[in-house]
Amino acid sequence: MKNHSQWESSLFELIRRTSVDLPSDVEQAIKRAYTAEPGGSRGRWVLETILENIRKARNQDAPICQDTGTLCFSFQVPVGFDTNALAAVTRVAVAKATRMGYLRQNTIDTLSGESCPTNVAHGSPVFRFEQCARSTVDVRLIMKGGGSENAGRQYSLPDDRLGAGRDLEGVRKCLLDAIVSIQGNGCSPGVLGVCVGGDRCTGCEHAKHQFLRKVDDRSEVKVLARLEERILKESRLLGVGPMGLGGNATLLGVKIGALSRLPASFFVSVSYMCWAFRRRGALITTKGGLKRWLY
Ligand code: SF4
Repeated sequence: MKNHSQWESSLFELIRRTSVDLPSDVEQAIKRAYTAEPGGSRGRWVLETILENIRKARNQDAPICQDTGTLCFSFQVPVGFDTNALAAVTRVAVAKATRMGYLRQNTIDTLSGESCPTNVAHGSPVFRFEQCARSTVDVRLIMKGGGSENAGRQYSLPDDRLGAGRDLEGVRKCLLDAIVSIQGNGCSPGVLGVCVGGDRCTGCEHAKHQFLRKVDDRSEVKVLARLEERILKESRLLGVGPMGLGGNATLLGVKIGALSRLPASFFVSVSYMCWAFRRRGALITTKGGLKRWLY
């Protein structure tokens, strides 16, 4: 890859920005949730603290949360673009951002229990590449907190415990069960990313892929858009609230996608994203120059 340093500097800036500055759609959703909680309530107090945290991180150029989370990069590249070189320069940018304190040393060697000082290790960061008919590189980064990752669920329908069959009403029962069982853990209010269908692996991946969408958009598939709206509305009636301390703002958004499935299986995969919904993206020229920010 030519212009290695240009690429490194653009990717470093993407990482820095993702770590310290929440996208405006997320911040606006938290502000709306704050306004909707009654004055003097615990929910309002939690959201006020979260909003102050967001402001301080931005002003002080410091990470929004101590949990760096899993670094999930999604690239759309022109056909024939060297993705090996792109992965290599991204690892260099991650190591630099870690050295400079924008990413906490948060990656653990699972077998030895030792910390990986650069956040570059087997399986870290996570890459997803797609070749498309395009002339620029579209790169998006999500930092997925570990606490929110623990809150994920996967259901296999039919589910007798929930009385959930293989239809959208069954999916609705799964999602309400997930919200109640999570009980604000994984730092609510957050966003549900859901996949209906797929297999155990693709379902989880597609559920997470929903986090590339903005908090306030709606699915283009009408039945899924209606379900997204309904779950969001019903989540407010469950009383879980910010950090599970009670209130209306249990969720900021619900994003549902669907994949085809096999006759034998009907999975509902649920990924949870905490309020620290660190998602940024950029269009980068093939020479590494930052063309424009996404989100
Ligand atoms: S779940 Fe999110 S807000 Fe909570 S500690 Fe992890 S990254 Fe931070």
